[in-house]
Amino acid sequence: MIQKKICTVGAYGAGKTSLVRRFVESMFDERYHTTVGVKIDKKVVKVSASTIMLMIWDIAGGDETEHTRLSHLRGANGYIIVVDGCRKWTLERARLLREKIREQFGELPHVLAVNKADLRDMWEVDDLGLVGCDAESTFLTSAKTGDSVEGMFENLAIKML
Ligand code: GDP
Repeated sequence: MIQKKICTVGAYGAGKTSLVRRFVESMFDERYHTTVGVKIDKKVVKVSASTIMLMIWDIAGGDETEHTRLSHLRGANGYIIVVDGCRKWTLERARLLREKIREQFGELPHVLAVNKADLRDMWEVDDLGLVGCDAESTFLTSAKTGDSVEGMFENLAIKML
């Protein structure tokens, strides 16, 4: 079976762990658990007549350990940038991360998750184009309701084939 390594990146609290949990375990938790170290989840997806084992790396740490976190992208086939729709500054953070990743690892397949779509009336983000991902690679997700979560992971899987 084809194996692909993917990583989640983005500001703390944006919903990286929650999106992976929703995708892998179909669950959601309102409480905030800080991720410790690296958690690797696996899930098999079938796209375009291919079966792919996704190895999903959820990387711990606050923004101060960014260098260490980005080093986990070594060997990754793709990544998900997560923005918190309720906090505007996470969009600028996502733009910087995308730039840094491109500098260090070249042009890897990626998608943008603008998360917490269930709180749409509280959203602060407007200029989604700022991050530099095209509209087809941008997903308005909710780890809480599951909206667009599967579609986003599958889109990334297709890009990596
Ligand atoms: P991480 O630090 O990026 O991994 O963020 P977490 O996944 O730990 O989520 C941070 C907080 O936001 C937690 O309290 C989650 O329950 C909450 N959260 C994550 N995704 C969503 C979402 O789609 N909708 C809502 N309402 N809350 C979310």
